[in-house]
Order: sequence, then structure tokens, then C-alpha cells
Amino acid sequence: MSGLFLSIGNLAGVGAKRRSLYAKLGIATPYDLLYHIPRDYRDYRDPVPVGETEEGETTVVRVTVTAKKRPIHTRTGMQIYGLDTEDAEGTSLGVRFFNNPYVYQSMIVGETYTMYGKINIRAGEREIHVPTLLKDSDIPIEAIYPLTQGLTNPMIRTNIKECLDLLDAKPFETLPETLRIHYGLMPLPKAMHVIHQPENLEEVEDARRRLAFEEMLRLQLGLHLLAERAARETDYPMDKNTNIQPFYDSLPFTLTGAQKKAIVEIAEDLCSGVPMNRLLQGDVGSGKTAVAAAACYFTAKNQMQSVLMAPTEILAAQHYQTLCDFLQPLGIRAVLLTGSVKGKEKKALYAEIADGTAQVIVGTHAVFQKKVEYQRLGLVITDEQHRFGVAQRAALAEKGGAPHKLVMSATPIPRTLALLMYGDLQVSILDVKPLGRLPIKTYAVAGSKMRPRAIGFIKTELEKGRQAYIVCPAIQEGDSELKAVTTYAEEMRSGLLAGWRVGVLHGQMTPQEKDEAMEKFRDRETDVLICTTVVEVGVDVPNATVMMIEDADRFGLSQMHQLRGRVGRSGYQSHCILLTEHPTDEARERMRLMSSIDDGFALAQKDLELRGPGDFFGNMQHGLPPMKTASLTDASLLHDVQEAAESIIQKDPLLESEEHRAIKFDILRLFEQNSENGMN
Ligand code: ADP
Ligand code: MG
Repeated sequence: MSGLFLSIGNLAGVGAKRRSLYAKLGIATPYDLLYHIPRDYRDYRDPVPVGETEEGETTVVRVTVTAKKRPIHTRTGMQIYGLDTEDAEGTSLGVRFFNNPYVYQSMIVGETYTMYGKINIRAGEREIHVPTLLKDSDIPIEAIYPLTQGLTNPMIRTNIKECLDLLDAKPFETLPETLRIHYGLMPLPKAMHVIHQPENLEEVEDARRRLAFEEMLRLQLGLHLLAERAARETDYPMDKNTNIQPFYDSLPFTLTGAQKKAIVEIAEDLCSGVPMNRLLQGDVGSGKTAVAAAACYFTAKNQMQSVLMAPTEILAAQHYQTLCDFLQPLGIRAVLLTGSVKGKEKKALYAEIADGTAQVIVGTHAVFQKKVEYQRLGLVITDEQHRFGVAQRAALAEKGGAPHKLVMSATPIPRTLALLMYGDLQVSILDVKPLGRLPIKTYAVAGSKMRPRAIGFIKTELEKGRQAYIVCPAIQEGDSELKAVTTYAEEMRSGLLAGWRVGVLHGQMTPQEKDEAMEKFRDRETDVLICTTVVEVGVDVPNATVMMIEDADRFGLSQMHQLRGRVGRSGYQSHCILLTEHPTDEARERMRLMSSIDDGFALAQKDLELRGPGDFFGNMQHGLPPMKTASLTDASLLHDVQEAAESIIQKDPLLESEEHRAIKFDILRLFEQNSENGMN
């Protein structure tokens, strides 16, 4: 076996300490390290004019020495070696070395040097401290890697060099040769050399394309292998003459056209004989729950059970309440099953589920624990499903043979990503909001002086009988300066919000405490709910009209949009206040986008552009392997990948042939690392 797949500890200079640092980055072998893709490149062929450099910036300049100063020996014993230089435009730059005369001595007045270091401003003058002098023979372009504390860029570069030697000693390829040539992709060894040690930035794009192709192909084929385990025929075909009118008649509102259309599409799937695999996508507040309720009604009328699974207990409880409201008057029995149901109660619930008395089972992932036996589980709905891992979904799907699956997502998933994640999945979109909704007014305000004014505004809403959320980024005051829920609530109760009823909700409370806090807010026993992002997903209290977000610069666009979606759920005008104390330029830009765009899809796309796929994915908790090179905005590449995946699947559905061995190995490894259950 090639040394590439042995421990990273075999590389020169990698001992136990560095091995554990690499482990933090998910790197265990030289092979893994090769896939540690640079996040950026520094181009030394392209020095920056001194006049354009900024304080604190680490940069490359090209300057000519005009004078060498006399060394200074300070009273504390430090020796300072200084030079005066200027660049081609005549802008001067001081150069300083400390305690080390050698580089200073080697430099000659009148000579020009390319150097790299950090710019300081001292007494109004630009200086570069302890720069590295670059020779023409040095690397022209340096790869900049994602790092972790204790691991430096030069360390990674040196280690990668050895990995590339290992690869050269025993070159191999992960993509089938014909496919590689057909799509004009570089061989793997070449791509690795280029991505880590490029000679120009144009070729980097080609290498990136090759690696992105491979990465997306792996994901496509991996998801295919998962799906392959699900049956092709459903054991639960439903009757297309099922009368759904009683459901419509009993609703307290008229469904939107988009809701009706989605329900019709779902009903058709349920009756088609093959398992439904549908994504119901709709921005926050578009009314997905009513559609889910219709599907449950349809299923119950066919003498089958439905499961509605939510990512948190709060949400499960809320869905349970909603479904009871919708379905109980129609004689359909819904139950709530979460981790906090215990003992006798749980036994009784299990019995009801097993004998079919319970027709709609709402819950958290407790609904697919081994002990839960269903009588006839025909439909599985998961809400906000990107929070579930791929493997978790597969486990649930296996519960009852081949039930129909409906996935509801509020965080808008860009189309390219949806295709990647779901392949042949059908999509229903709720693209209109229920009538009578006013757009939410969003204000971005900066500086702590604005807080009393913002709270003052909240109080005018409270006086009208409305309620408000305030979201803080942390739970407890730590070493960071982030606003923390618990202390913040204390301050508010005795300060700006004295006299108002202030509730608290955060992730470290027990499920019962959370439910209680939520119930009190829903029943208007509290006026203001101070919380963490646990309210991000799905919580529905129409009387709440203000969402204020503290330290808003800490949140991504999609997340802020989710939070904002907690208000604007009634005919009242709603407001969203984004408060930041010291916003960076980038944060200001995000605030600006939030105030000007209210479409979740458009924001998600912006989020993707601003933060790159890595972060975007990371935040989505979808259980998919993180993307390192693939840009989800590259639709033409995606198209090629899908075509390639299809042709591979046709020839070799289980990837058993020799030419697919390498990629299958990678797929299994990836999915094992990224899901609890793995896929073997
Ligand atoms: P989401 O799509 O974010 O899950 P919900 O299902 O929570 O949205 O619905 C948001 C609110 O809108 C709920 O209070 C729900 O009862 C209400 N609602 C849903 N559909 C309609 C409709 N057609 N007309 C009026 N209100 C509706
Ligand atoms: Mg919802």
C-alpha cells in the first residue's frame, strides 16, 4: 500500500502534537492532506505599491534600499537594525530587523529586493518588520491553507511537498480514464501538483475544476448508493378517489393557490404506486404545515399512518398542536412522541402506534427508535429536514418498507444544491404567502446607544398588545463579549424592560423548561422572549411582531432570514431590528442585504456568494460531507457531473468494477466520517 494511506505521523516533522492538530482538521493520512485544498493564493510575482498597503496587512512589496541606518542598542538589550527604502513610485518604506544582524548585513544600498511581511505605521511612517526576502528562484505563488492554532502555513506546505512526492512515487487516479478524458479533466497527480504548487493562477482553475468534479461525483454516487437501498415499489399505494374536501372545509382559512397545487401533487404521488420522494420548499411563513396536515389526512383516510418528524422538541410540540387543531375535529387521532415521554406513558403510546389507533405520529427522531413499531406507516414527513443527517433519513425510511417521503424545507436550498442532495427528487414550491401579510420592515442599527431606542420601539408594540423576540448569540456570559441570554434577560428585567414580562429560552434548558417557556409565550403570559437561535426553526406565534437580533453580525444571511421569519405571521405590521455594536464592512453589507431583500432564495444565493460553499454548507447541518472545491453556483459543471454519474450507474450500479474501486473507497470513507450510521 502506498504511504499515502498510512498515518500522517510518517511524514517528516509530524509527531504526536502535529498529528493531533491535523486530526482537528479531519486529516489522518497524507492522502487526506492532499485534499486539504488551499483557501487562497499569494502571488509574489505581483508586488503591491507601498502607497497602497495598509496597516496590519501582510503583503509583498518591491523596494530599493536608499540608506542603511546605524544599529540601535536599546537599554533593554534589544538591537534594532533599520533601513530606508523606496519603491518604484518613490514611496518610502522603513525596514526593521530585531536582534538579528544577518539579513541586514546582507542588504546593499542601491539594490532592489522583493520582500514579504507585515506593514506597521510608526510615527506616521510606513514600516515593514522582519520581512522575508524573496529570491527570484523562490516559489512565485504561495498556497494559503485553512489553519488551526499551532499549525502554520509553512508547516503544511512542507508536509504537502512530501505528500506530493509520495503521490509521484506511486501515482494513481480516482476517476475512470474514459470519463476523465471525455470531460477534459486533469489526471489526479497533475491536479494535486497544480492546486498546491501552482505556477500560474489560470491552471489553478483547471485543477479546481477537476477536483470539484470528483467531489461532486462522489457525492452524487454516494447518495445514489444510499437510495439504492430503498425499494422501488411502495407497499402503500393510496386510493385516488380519496375525498379530501372535508379537510378543506374544516380549515379556518382558505388555502393559497400554491398550497392547493402542492397538495394535489402530493396526492398524485401517494396514489402512483411508487414511493413518493418530494421536497416541499417554501419560504418561512408560506404555510407548509397545512400542506403536511392535508397529506396526513389523505393518508389516514387510506387507513395508513403518517409520521411528522421535527428537529427539536419545541417544534414537534408545536406541530402536534397544529395538527390536532386541524385533524382532531375530523376524527383523526394524532399523538406526540419525543424523548421526554417516559415510562407508562411511553408504553401506552407505543401500543397505540403498534395497533394503529394513533394515526398521525408527531415527534422528534424518537419516532424512529428501534422499539417503535408501526402498524402501517405509509407517509414520512420531515420538517426543516436539512437538520437531519442523510443517514438518519435513510434509517427512518427503512422503518416501514418503502413509505412515501415528504421533506419540508424552509431554509431555501439553492437549486443546484437541491439537485445534488436529492437527485431525482420532485419539488413542490410554495411561492406565495397567505393573503393579508405585510412585508416585514427591517432596520439595521449600529452602536450600543441605539439599544434603548430599539427597546423603546419594542415597548410601543407591547403596549399595543403585541409580543417580541430578542435573540442573543450566546447562552451564558463567557470570555467573549457576545450578548448572552441569561445575563441579558436579568439586565432587561431590572432595566429597559422593567415592568414587562420577560421569558427566556435557550438550548441548555431541559425539554420541559423549553416547552413551558414556549407555551407561556404562545399564551401571552410573557411579552418578550429572550432567546438563542433555538427559535430559528419553525416557531409560530402570530401575535409576535418584533424580532430584534443582538450582535447581528454574528449571523449569516440565511439564519437571519429564518429568525426574521418568526414574525410577520399575522395581519399586523411586523418589524425586524438588527443591532450590531462594531460592524465590519462585510457585516454592514449583510445588514444592507437583509434590509433590502425579503426573498429567502435570493438571500441564500447571496449567502453562498459571500461565504463560499464551505461555510454555507457547514451552517446547514445537512449531514452531507463538506464541499472543499465545488462551487454550487457552477451549473454547467453540475450538469456534466450528473451525466457522468448516470452513465456510471447504468453500467455499474453498485460500483463493483475495478475502474470504480477508487471512487467507491472514497465515497464509503466520506459518508462514514460524516454520518452516524455510515453506509455499509
Ligand atoms: P411555514 O411554512 O413557515 O412552516 P406555517 O405552516 O408555520 O409556515 O404557517 C405560518 C402561519 O400561517 C400559521 O399560523 C398558519 O396557520 C398560517 N397559514 C397557513 N396557511 C394559511 C393560509 N392559506 N391563509 C392564512 N393563514 C395561513
Ligand atoms: Mg414550519
